[in-house]
Amino acid sequence: MEKRLSLLGATGSIGIQALDVAEKLHWPVTAMAAGSRVLPFEEQIRKFSPRVVAMADENAAADLKVRIADLPVKVTAGTEGLCEVASVANADMVLNSVMGVAGFLPTLAAVEAGHDVALANKETLVAGGAVVTDACQKHGVKLLPVDSEHSAIFQCLQGCPPHGKAKKLILTCSGGPFFGKTKADLEAVTLEQALAHPNWSMGLKITVDSATMMNKGLELIEAKWLFDMDPDDIDIIIHRESIVHSLVEYEDNSVIAQLGVPDMRIPIQYALTWPERVPSPVKPLSLAEAGKLTFFAPDHETFPAINLCREAIKRGGLYPAAVSGANEQAVALFAAGKLPFAAITPLVARILEHPWGAADSAEAVLQADRDSRQLLLELAGERV
Ligand code: NDP
Ligand code: MG
Repeated sequence: MEKRLSLLGATGSIGIQALDVAEKLHWPVTAMAAGSRVLPFEEQIRKFSPRVVAMADENAAADLKVRIADLPVKVTAGTEGLCEVASVANADMVLNSVMGVAGFLPTLAAVEAGHDVALANKETLVAGGAVVTDACQKHGVKLLPVDSEHSAIFQCLQGCPPHGKAKKLILTCSGGPFFGKTKADLEAVTLEQALAHPNWSMGLKITVDSATMMNKGLELIEAKWLFDMDPDDIDIIIHRESIVHSLVEYEDNSVIAQLGVPDMRIPIQYALTWPERVPSPVKPLSLAEAGKLTFFAPDHETFPAINLCREAIKRGGLYPAAVSGANEQAVALFAAGKLPFAAITPLVARILEHPWGAADSAEAVLQADRDSRQLLLELAGERV
């Protein structure tokens, strides 16, 4: 069941692990895309020999073209290039692990080309869930979740008969580096502290999102779209050890969970090989070694981001796109030392004070993303 892959976000945390999985499966990678870092991308291209590659940054793409002039590879650039990689004819499946809303149009391009998509890029669904799920229906395309919680739910739903009813989805959450802290404790948080995630090694944006708990709010919205679930039927539980990756509660109150060591190569591989399971490079789970699994209710007072996202998806339309865009902008400001950590969620919450329209087209989604970033910049400017 070899599949030819197109991989977007190849040089990132998920991208590198996806290449490891593909290599061990002996699957070819026919197309690849990255953002702006030429050297690591060149190394990957030389190793995996794709036929088409893209870089979001035009200058980086021009530089890459010169560096790999000796290879039979087509180099493309910008959003158009990313979409070409996503819709390339000689791929059986696309894995999208681009960071942020930049992944939205490439996901749509893959779907419109009829490719199943293994989706790590959660911002695709948070910002444009309605547009993307409609396109999937129209083109008969599947979205396979890579995000560990959503992969867990997807796995727990495998035994569910077609008309069986999952009553609740329960997303687990590590609690991030600031579990147990108070609002006052968060005032002086540094970037270095925010990046010290207890269990997972990930890209910058998702690591900061995990520290604010915005990541779990975004995942709630992602779960609504992937599993067609009412947001009020999606619960969040803090689970410090990141061994139970999420759970499904059925009508009879039986609860099914998926467990494993915290290693993204399990959900990445399952998204690629589904419905089959094959041996993986990940070590087996030893519950005896884990010893104890702990669970806590989230502290919504200190971390209001989950409820903020719940409110956004309940309002619907472009509210989630606006929250996603504003958050991406706020995290970029925090990473650049221009916004304190404690200001991220309150500023993003102010986005909800504005009216946002219907999410009826890809252009409307992208406009809301741009407008919300601009608004966030203005709100951040007012602080000083
Ligand atoms: P990284 O920051 O590690 O990697 C991001 C990738 O996207 C890199 O290849 C980067 O290229 C590329 N990229 C960055 N900006 C752009 C752009 N504007 N256009 C095109 N490509 C771009 O992120 P992660 O791998 O951690 O996360 C990727 C996605 O997967 C996110 O949506 C995240 O929420 C999701 N995810 C990640 C998990 C994880 O464990 N890391 C777990 C679950 C979900 P370059 O290197 O050139 O900058
Ligand atoms: Mg996750």
